[in-house]
Amino acid sequence: MAFVDGLRCRECGREYAADPIYTCEWCFGPLEVAYDYEAITKATSREKIAAGPASLWRYADLLPVERNAAVDLGTGFTPLVRADRLAAELGLGEVWVKNDTRNPTNSFKDRVVTIAMSKALEFGFKVLACASTGNLANSVAAHAAHAGLRSYVFVPSNLEQGKIVTTAVYGGNLVAIEGNYDDVNRLCAELAGMYPWAFVNVNMRPYYAEGSKTLAFETAEQLGWQAPDHVVVPAASGSLLTKVLKGFHELHQVGLLDGDADVRVSGAQALGCSPIATAYLDESDTIRPVKPDTIAKSLAIGNPADGYFALEAVRTTGGGFAAVSDGEIVEGMRLLARTEGIFAETAGGVTIATLQRLAAEGVVRADERVVVYITGHGLKTLDAVVSVAGPTATIKPTLDAFHEAFDIEEQ
Ligand SMILES: *Cc1c(COP(=O)(O)O)cnc(C)c1O
Ligand SMILES: [Zn+2]
Repeated sequence: MAFVDGLRCRECGREYAADPIYTCEWCFGPLEVAYDYEAITKATSREKIAAGPASLWRYADLLPVERNAAVDLGTGFTPLVRADRLAAELGLGEVWVKNDTRNPTNSFKDRVVTIAMSKALEFGFKVLACASTGNLANSVAAHAAHAGLRSYVFVPSNLEQGKIVTTAVYGGNLVAIEGNYDDVNRLCAELAGMYPWAFVNVNMRPYYAEGSKTLAFETAEQLGWQAPDHVVVPAASGSLLTKVLKGFHELHQVGLLDGDADVRVSGAQALGCSPIATAYLDESDTIRPVKPDTIAKSLAIGNPADGYFALEAVRTTGGGFAAVSDGEIVEGMRLLARTEGIFAETAGGVTIATLQRLAAEGVVRADERVVVYITGHGLKTLDAVVSVAGPTATIKPTLDAFHEAFDIEEQ
């Protein structure tokens, strides 16, 4: 049983039934799931969660889905890795990496898709669809295949080959659009009004977005039911960042947290697509749309739907924002790989480079317990590092050749 009261407008507060709708008829504001927190507080407990599956479905009491309708590839409960070597390089104290490359299709998008898709089945939809910057396409195609449903996924045609192949292989319809994500998204909004399809991030968006909260739930549980002091979160539409903060607040509200939910939230964007970071750094409330030009394609949303809410989350919690260059992104990917043995995609490079920048600026401090969210796997964006990651030496198969190339001293 889901403890959902309905949907509520984030702008004017008007309430709606929990239907496949996403904007307020009154003010056109975005709708969000509203819960009965008193009922959740009574129903849930740490013990019940611990006895649940080793996936995000252990938090079913805090999710908007009837549990048995779940389309599940085993998403979530990914490792939270203590990153002492990374921390030392950056002059920080306690740093943890939430390694969400370890999901079924190797990005955090499996979290939002498993929720949206399960909800879509409850509503009786037969076709799954999405507008994607890459990772969402992977995940929707895989989940649709698993459930035996038809899918239409729409992506910008300039996507990395890694993401095209890892979507197409699941056999749904992959539509490459000659345009950027914002063009793709506009077309999908039109199609969503025309066909009875579940667009996971359009008409399913209120439910979809709830999946991101589980990154906060898991982090807290893995830290012994405590919120960290500071989290660094990559931002495309800004939904993930907003919902991570909501997740910590909900845990506090239903009594699952030791201490408070006083977590500072910092945001990470690529310089080539930094509408939210720019508004933050300019101390402006206006998020000006941009034309993306960055290797961090999974974050390349020029007109971010949740940008304002992400900005507010960072401001109200006293976090920071950075916009990092493509060069810094590649260095960030290499730094994480070299210090912690975790290979992240370009979005992870954005997050690590932001951590580095904010540490240097004193925004992220050495006395804080910090969690960084690594949201996609490096094999998806090999192009970004092929020119800087190759063999140390290429030699003939002889001892002489080896010794010529390497001056071995230790035994
Ligand atoms: C989609 C995505 C994000 C963040 O997306 P939001 O639209 O801000 O919720 C972060 N990292 C990766 C790798 C993604 O694919
Ligand atoms: Zn409204």
